[in-house]
Amino acid sequence: MAVLLFFIGAILGSFYLVIGTRLPKGEDVLFSRSKCNSCNHILKWYNLIPIFSYVFQRGKCSYCHKKIASEHLWVEIATGLLFVFTYYYLPAGYDFYIGLIISSLLIIIFVSDFKYMIILDSPLIITGILVSILKLIFFGIKATLISLCSGVSLFCVMLLLFQLGKLLFKKEALGGGDIKLAFIMGLILDFKLGLVALVLSTFVALPYALASLEIKKNNEFPYGPFLAGSLFIVFYHYDKFLLLIDFLFPF
Ligand SMILES: [Zn+2]
Repeated sequence: MAVLLFFIGAILGSFYLVIGTRLPKGEDVLFSRSKCNSCNHILKWYNLIPIFSYVFQRGKCSYCHKKIASEHLWVEIATGLLFVFTYYYLPAGYDFYIGLIISSLLIIIFVSDFKYMIILDSPLIITGILVSILKLIFFGIKATLISLCSGVSLFCVMLLLFQLGKLLFKKEALGGGDIKLAFIMGLILDFKLGLVALVLSTFVALPYALASLEIKKNNEFPYGPFLAGSLFIVFYHYDKFLLLIDFLFPF
């Protein structure tokens, strides 16, 4: 089962890389055939087996022998590993499915936000729909409505921070995608844990922000990966974070 999930993850991972790389440029991702970036040769099925093709072709295109970006290999391995980790770490059923969805979103946001400073709408919309359907199936209409309200509330919190940031720094400190992502965080985690994840994201992002300022002299960096990362951390340790909240706010 773990081996199978690793391969499903790797196959999806190579698709997520395509989504995160091509969609922001307005290119078709569903119906266009995969091509070599250097020679535009249409790739055959055996050039597209995740991980194996890259390794057997020694990281080179089999037609023009130019190097293939190693990100293909890493994104495929990372997605496969996240899927296996989800299988071992989360209980079967609702948690497992949501874990796979969060892992997928994390990979897509990592790719598009680090490459183009963009969080795409379509992965967020698909995530929102899938999560709502799963909530409805597993917990019923009332719980789903509460979760949707939590999503909207967290969206509003983020919007408030966005406006505050604009007022303080005289420019946009957060992107529109970050605010929409907050809706997904609230929808999945509910309001309290969603807030915890927002706070956690600032701590997770701090080392990167400092390093980026120090090394690249750049005070703009993608925030989406850190929000999605915090969503991942809090969801996978749901029970521990709930205990933490009860401990900090016993009233
Ligand atoms: Zn080529």
